[in-house]
Amino acid sequence: MTLKPETLVLHAGWRADPATGAVAVPIYQTTSYQFPSSDHARELFSLERLGFTYTRTGNPTTDVLEKRVAALEGGVGALALASGQAASAFSVLALARAGDNIVSSTDLYGGTWNLFANTLAQRGVEVRFADPAAPENFRRATDERTRAYYAETLPNPKLIAFPIAEVAAIGRAQGIPLIVDNTAAPIIARPLALGAAIVVHSATKYIGGHGTSIGGIIVDGGNFDWTAWKDRQPALNTPDPSYHGAVWTEVAQRHGIGAYVALVRSTVQRDLGAPISPFNAFQLLQGLETLPLRIERQVSNATAVAAWLARHPQVTRVIHPSLQTGEARARADRVLTGGPGALVGFELAGGAADGARFIDGLKLLYHVANIGDARSLAIHPATTTHSQLSAEERLASGVTPGYVRLSIGIEHIDDILADLSQALDAIRLQAAA
Ligand SMILES: *Cc1c(COP(=O)(O)O)cnc(C)c1O
Repeated sequence: MTLKPETLVLHAGWRADPATGAVAVPIYQTTSYQFPSSDHARELFSLERLGFTYTRTGNPTTDVLEKRVAALEGGVGALALASGQAASAFSVLALARAGDNIVSSTDLYGGTWNLFANTLAQRGVEVRFADPAAPENFRRATDERTRAYYAETLPNPKLIAFPIAEVAAIGRAQGIPLIVDNTAAPIIARPLALGAAIVVHSATKYIGGHGTSIGGIIVDGGNFDWTAWKDRQPALNTPDPSYHGAVWTEVAQRHGIGAYVALVRSTVQRDLGAPISPFNAFQLLQGLETLPLRIERQVSNATAVAAWLARHPQVTRVIHPSLQTGEARARADRVLTGGPGALVGFELAGGAADGARFIDGLKLLYHVANIGDARSLAIHPATTTHSQLSAEERLASGVTPGYVRLSIGIEHIDDILADLSQALDAIRLQAAA
């Protein structure tokens, strides 16, 4: 039976607790697991048998979260982590070693940009940046040491959907998997179905949805033929000295699991250690259950907000896929098949001063550096998230002085519009005072 997303988030990977019959997934707040015998323990550690040994590499509560998000994205397995940052970092570190490189889209979350431009580069993994305006830029930046491509489905502030199918195809012809950060577009975009091989999420955002817990996840699409690319992908195809010569594609085949997720769990996570706590995995499972419903409401609210702002005299430009034309629209139609998303950008005629006045005038929307919450959120990037960049870098990233980013929540649309309206009025009052 192939279930739909609305059903998978409630049912995938769990029926009831085998010990008690509990329907809700229990919080298995344990570090370790009693081995029934020495033989059993030996088999677990030698990977002859799969099972829980220690919560750094696996936990029964976390396991359900991993199975559900993998099912939702259409992958074969997943690894949940302590944060989205850990997910991004580990997704790359699994494939790229010192002297290797990856090619990444320039349009990235700030934390990922820093990770790639500074932290990974300082440790010998070069990240080459490609402008996603032309998919061919990825091919041009590729050489024999390129191990992966990386991009975000719906990067803000530009909110132009990434050409997933085109770049994935360029990579697949050369044995290079595309890793897609789908944080801003769960449910509405299906990167694996478009050809991406790996999906990462900051589960902190829409998946959790209630602003309570930091978490991340890496999903193995199971749709990439690693064995066909032995030279290109040595991490998957050559004996791993850190695991008594295991070859991850062979381990995976023996157990019918994803080779990539087995590698990340058994080496990168084992050694760098950023496990999510079982409690946070539980919180994210609660959020996941209502994700499709929230996304539906958030997308319809955001579309209404975008249309309302577009008619407002104080607003010079509105950025939302529902209003795009030309190539951006064509990409949105191909990638965002479930709706245009719930992030909305807009520009105020009065520049940075008006941006700050608008934010200070909000009464209902929260002023926070976050997205994806059930509550509506706002931020003025030029004076906050993007303030460390030079003025030119800010403009190149799409942040003008008067740019405001909204993450629209599930409140009643009338109340959201009323708050935006009074905050826009407050700009004029403050400016006149
Ligand atoms: C927030 C975010 C991250 C980082 O996730 P954390 O859970 O905060 O570590 C990565 N990518 C995108 C697109 C994000 O919005």
